[in-house]
Amino acid sequence: DQTDFIKASVMDGENIIDDKKSTEREKSTAALEERKTLPIYSYRDELLKAVHDHQILIIVGETGSGKTTQIPQYLHEAGYTKRGKVGCTQPRRVAAMSVAARVSQEMGVKLGHEVGYSIRFEDCTSEKTLIKYMTDGMLLREFLGDPELASYSVVMVDEAHERTLSTDILFGLVKDIARFRPDLKLLISSATLDAEKFSDYFDSAPIFKIPGRRYPVEIHYTKAPEADYLDAAIVTVLQIHTTQPSGDILVFFTGQEEIETAEEILKHRTRGLGTKIADLIICPICANLPTELQAKIFEPTPEGARKVVLATNIAETSLTIDGIKYVIDPGFCKMKSYNPRTGMESLLVAPISKASANQRAGRSGRTGPGKCFRLYTAYSYQNELEDNTLPEIQRTNLASVVLALKSLGIHDLLNFDFMDRPPCEALLKALELLFALGALNKLGELTKVGRRMAEFPLDPLLSKMIVASEKHKCSDEIISIAAMLSIGNSIFYCPKEKRVHANNARMNFHTGNVGDHIALLKVYNSWKETNYSTQWCYENYIQVRSMKRARDVRGQLEGLLKRVEIEVTSNPNDLEAIKKAITSGFFPHSARLQKNGCYRTVKHPQSVHIHPSSGLAQVIPRWVLYHELALTTKEYIRQVTELKPEWLLEIAPHYYQLKDVEDRSGFPTIL
Ligand code: ADP
Ligand code: MG
Repeated sequence: DQTDFIKASVMDGENIIDDKKSTEREKSTAALEERKTLPIYSYRDELLKAVHDHQILIIVGETGSGKTTQIPQYLHEAGYTKRGKVGCTQPRRVAAMSVAARVSQEMGVKLGHEVGYSIRFEDCTSEKTLIKYMTDGMLLREFLGDPELASYSVVMVDEAHERTLSTDILFGLVKDIARFRPDLKLLISSATLDAEKFSDYFDSAPIFKIPGRRYPVEIHYTKAPEADYLDAAIVTVLQIHTTQPSGDILVFFTGQEEIETAEEILKHRTRGLGTKIADLIICPICANLPTELQAKIFEPTPEGARKVVLATNIAETSLTIDGIKYVIDPGFCKMKSYNPRTGMESLLVAPISKASANQRAGRSGRTGPGKCFRLYTAYSYQNELEDNTLPEIQRTNLASVVLALKSLGIHDLLNFDFMDRPPCEALLKALELLFALGALNKLGELTKVGRRMAEFPLDPLLSKMIVASEKHKCSDEIISIAAMLSIGNSIFYCPKEKRVHANNARMNFHTGNVGDHIALLKVYNSWKETNYSTQWCYENYIQVRSMKRARDVRGQLEGLLKRVEIEVTSNPNDLEAIKKAITSGFFPHSARLQKNGCYRTVKHPQSVHIHPSSGLAQVIPRWVLYHELALTTKEYIRQVTELKPEWLLEIAPHYYQLKDVEDRSGFPTIL
């Protein structure tokens, strides 16, 4: 059971600089010593001078050179935090948290005091905070309360190459405020070399390059395409572990479920290896990882053991783990995709770009020569991968940013200063959807509903569901459901050896075929009745960690309800009222059963299937609403609730017409 690789090429080591500086080390604290070994350290003074001399600076440096952790500290040491905070954005929550933790440790302060972070539903900052790491989405929301970002002296838009939707919108907003706030410094930092484009956009801002150390990386490709990349990845991990010299392994997966599966299989297979083989320490990283476990990833590997890090794209450029010598790249990542014609958004597993593949490979050559095992063929790399990933703004639903921009008073969206414009159709679709949700009026102006919706840091469909719960007098239930939905698919767990028990426990919440939304509500309320018992979670195969997060999120949604002056009212027994409130937000996500047993989305017909994890997967109701559409092996809809078609006409008469919901002849009456 081996995976066959051919060694294809060696990526040249670039800019291999020797570490002369390190011989001059002064005796100082260990943290300071470590900081001085980073490539960026030799450029500290030059960088500070450039920041002093220019309002906007583009910074380019190899991943791991110290941009994210060091630059904000340098700015603090140079006195910039006397005039306001230094803010630094990250595209990913885990990166914001982990980097803030690291920097607070380097500065010897408590996390949340001088150094803090802010991510959706979690604010770990205080009055004292001088350096603030946050997701790009959070800074975008800060504009709503503070349109000039008056509390900041420096804003660093980090990982700019990722081109997330929020980062792209931030570009336009910060460029604009920089004009009337000459005291505000703006840093745009990126790990790749498309800096010219950033410079052009920011009125020819100068580019500051930080040469990195990079060692040669041997690239190996599989001889033939792999049918099952997860299995191939595991086989390759074990192959490296049993045949290659010491050095840690980094494997790129597409998401949490894959990572958990891989972890389970690896644990199982290494058990049989015997005592002659070194220990393999398995470290998963993904979005929901608790802080204690995050620290484990960065701990140095004990002598004689080997670490294997199972990561999502986050390890591509956002987080650097020292000691990686082998990279396994299956060649896929999870991507949002959006069809502006139909307005359908979905998550799918898609091939990565050449640029991503090279970033991934580069992760193995940071501290010495490395090896990268690509689980695809050289032919496929050459001929099938795109050069670059399309910026998110060109492949996503824009409803939430359009709503945010409208609340900032930016009405002329077609003339907003985009670095890359979104497709015109996508903008129109977003306006249309917000109109259908009642957030905008016919003139495209924000309505009262829209203003209330904009207060919630959620997708507009969810915010609308919450705002509509006022009318149906069930805001208490609806915010519990919204909180549970926002946790994602990690409420239930299902250990392999106890699959039957776990499934039975899960199905208990589905009694009466109430649908997944109500089932989530039942889970939440049952847990609450036990006074948030951990034991109860164990007994019911429910993840305590996810539940605690849901409770937290729910608390914040409750606060936001107060802010928009919606009373918290409970209506637990009127399931129809609750489902109608859900429909008020999610009516665009309706699907009806077809003769062939599949579902078809109503407004823009596409075939979909209920995900097997849904409580309704065996029930097959004629009409359903779904929370999300995920394309994996099939087009699956997840979190599904039964719907009465007349609700669509009642709740969204401007969106659905009678012909959309009429019963077509020929439908088997048995259904
Ligand atoms: P860049 O932003 O240029 O990619 P970073 O500032 O993120 O570089 O990383 C600099 C160094 O800090 C790396 O060696 C990395 O391993 C280390 N580092 C970053 N975050 C942590 C953390 N949470 N714990 C331990 N080390 C970390
Ligand atoms: Mg960084």
